Amino acid sequence: MAKLTVSDLDLKGKKVLMRVDFNVPIKDGVIGNDNRIVAALPTIKYVIEHGGKAILLSHLGRIKKEDDKPGLSMRPVAERLSNLLNKPVTFVPTTEGKQLEDAIDGLNDGDVLVMENTRYEDVKDGEYVKRESGNDPELGKYWASLGDVFVNDAFGTAHRSHASNAGIAANMAQTAAGFLMEKEIKFIGGAVDNPEHPFVAILGGAKVSDKIGVIDNLLAKADKILIGGGMTYTFYAAKGIKIGNSLVEKDKIDLAKEILDKAGDKLVLPVDSVVAEKFDNDAPHKTVEGDVPDGYMALDIGPKSIAEFEDVLKSAKTVVWNGPMGVFEMSNYAEGTLEIGKFLGTLTEAKTIVGGGDSTAAVQQLGVADKLSHISTGGGASLEYLEGKTLPGIAAISDK
Ligand code: ADP
Ligand code: MG
Repeated sequence: MAKLTVSDLDLKGKKVLMRVDFNVPIKDGVIGNDNRIVAALPTIKYVIEHGGKAILLSHLGRIKKEDDKPGLSMRPVAERLSNLLNKPVTFVPTTEGKQLEDAIDGLNDGDVLVMENTRYEDVKDGEYVKRESGNDPELGKYWASLGDVFVNDAFGTAHRSHASNAGIAANMAQTAAGFLMEKEIKFIGGAVDNPEHPFVAILGGAKVSDKIGVIDNLLAKADKILIGGGMTYTFYAAKGIKIGNSLVEKDKIDLAKEILDKAGDKLVLPVDSVVAEKFDNDAPHKTVEGDVPDGYMALDIGPKSIAEFEDVLKSAKTVVWNGPMGVFEMSNYAEGTLEIGKFLGTLTEAKTIVGGGDSTAAVQQLGVADKLSHISTGGGASLEYLEGKTLPGIAAISDK
């Protein structure tokens, strides 16, 4: 069933609790990159332009002891938000109590308030009590009492059951998705639950063990699964192809065999690789078909594999991509990832979806992100979504 979204709500004069993802990189109080704050702006603007009072909650980093708190205050984030919105933002340096409640009571329609890092609640009087991360029911109930409606726009934490997402929602009459969350549900949820065929998955990255859940789930749904990246060579080992010094998970070779048997010709392995003498951009390297020679490690897929993958992809209507095709961080082994990314950009009739932390970084770094339909904002969350798991943060959003 379709989920309720912020545009379904009557916001005028309402205290709108909003779980956003302001988990930005921060060092000595300086924000390294404000992409996540910028990404949250459409939903925040929508709420205030429709007369809501926006009360924003987010976590920032991990807090395990009192000393972690000062460096992870939300204050600089509130200041940056104020600059980006070009209007005052009230920052409340606490997560509960009279100061917070009074500040909320004092809000006018269209005002914005940011409360302190929700994970301050994980440490109380020096003790690691995990009230936020452990979804303490009293905390979710308390936060819920501060607002009239709840908007969850933090996909990055949707795979966790925390007080600030599932906890608040459990105590709210209505929880709606923000625009970012709505897009993740539409694209990743849509691909997993109801893909337009042909549906092709591209799975790469370092390890098979990280991706077993995704492979299993997508084998049942996709028409083809293209394998690249480091995990290729565990599959090679399972097929008796030589792998040289390539990355391999010896304890997963049997599992790779099982997957190959189950998948039949649905699973497509690279036919050639770029192999190097060392894990080093400047090491001597060459392209080989099949067997990886002794003394070499495979660090990218080769040109024949790229052409074969493109041949499968060209008729696809849905493409989900998780995991780079090679060690894209080094320019000599970035070709496979770059070419596949560029090719996806030409598939204007298809939904092209990228999930996964490094995969997202790869398409952004290589400059191919703009042409794709959806780049997920959550690494861990997108993986669990692709595994077919129920994400507590999404499950807690009301149905339309
Ligand atoms: P994601 O975060 O998108 O899920 P992963 O974490 O699974 O992706 O994998 C990303 C990492 O895999 C990258 O750091 C990349 O360098 C590495 N990788 C890709 N291909 C290879 C390879 N052939 N050998 C070793 N590492 C590889
Ligand atoms: Mg990763």
